[in-house]
Amino acid sequence: MTQLELRQISKKFGNLTAVDRVSLSVNENELVALVGPSGCGKTTLLRLIAGFEQPDSGQILMGGQNITHLRPEERQVGIVFQDYALFPHMNVKTNVAYGLRFSSSMSTAAKRDRVEEFLQLVGLSELRSRMPEELSAGQQQRVALARTLAPQPRVVLLDEPFSALDQKLRHELRFDLKRLQHALKITMIHVTHDQEEALAIAEQVAVMNQGQIEQIGTPREVYQQPRTTFVARFIGRGNVLQARVVSAENKLLVARLGEDQPIKIAKSSGQSLSSDGQIEILIRPEHVQHGSGFENQLRGTLRGIEFLGEALLLHIEIAGQDVIAKIPVSSAKSEKLTEGQSVIIGFSSNDAAII
Ligand code: ATP
Repeated sequence: MTQLELRQISKKFGNLTAVDRVSLSVNENELVALVGPSGCGKTTLLRLIAGFEQPDSGQILMGGQNITHLRPEERQVGIVFQDYALFPHMNVKTNVAYGLRFSSSMSTAAKRDRVEEFLQLVGLSELRSRMPEELSAGQQQRVALARTLAPQPRVVLLDEPFSALDQKLRHELRFDLKRLQHALKITMIHVTHDQEEALAIAEQVAVMNQGQIEQIGTPREVYQQPRTTFVARFIGRGNVLQARVVSAENKLLVARLGEDQPIKIAKSSGQSLSSDGQIEILIRPEHVQHGSGFENQLRGTLRGIEFLGEALLLHIEIAGQDVIAKIPVSSAKSEKLTEGQSVIIGFSSNDAAII
């Protein structure tokens, strides 16, 4: 069931269109990750949903009800910001209780129980009497989460809540967030700069560019079948190669990279190609293998090697284009790779997507 629906929402600041005819449907208990470059309109979109900004046009519906002109406190929308915004003069318990200030139908005892329940859910029961300054950054963000979730809002908006935390803490908190989402059946929109986080926790990933949602789909869809070059380059590390079509059948396309390097690419039936025969192909670095014996083979020159611990990134120039291969360190052991040498790489036709 759709919990939140945006219909053609637009917002201008002077001449600048910050949000441009955005439509979005978020189901109950679903987490949508909103990603996109700085300034593309993510925060403005959240502020519109929360009611801190009014759209110039379009509608916002919650559970089928038009809430476009409701005041923020009437919307039952919770929001968690990057800076935890805890009250420094209130202890943990009082900070969480503050989230229930608009829950006028709840008795004092019910509010007390709710605060305890949510402190337990975020693992902070023991620290209920501490002041914010006595908490670590991760603990402070947990308090902020509990404060937002305690009134059980219909939608929770998260604006880069973990971006100020170190990587290990971010991983812990995103795992906790997912656990809470399932346990409490919460509908969420989560703005993040961390694409891995978006792919790891979202049911749907919405990629924004210049005020518009350029693609929305499951993490697999946006990663494996990006609809535009922008999405291909923005989500994960991708090799986007220019090629020329040699022949196209229903399910298989043969293209040429440079003068003499033919490659086969699986094509979904009905997929249309541009009339000039030029195509862009996406191949993820982890799908590029080093060595021969693969369905597609390309010759190139090794231009650089990056050591990542568990893997090596090989930067290879092929017909004037750069290709990155991510190969396990173990598979490169047997051969000493040196910059400038000639290398052969391979990939399967199923691992190449036409953009
Ligand atoms: P970031 O990832 O850097 O936080 P964002 O995607 O959240 O960026 P927004 O903060 O929504 O982007 O801003 C979108 C555009 O609208 C930007 O060009 C920004 O400068 C502009 N903008 C946002 N708020 C206002 C405002 N109150 N007045 C004028 N321009 C604004």
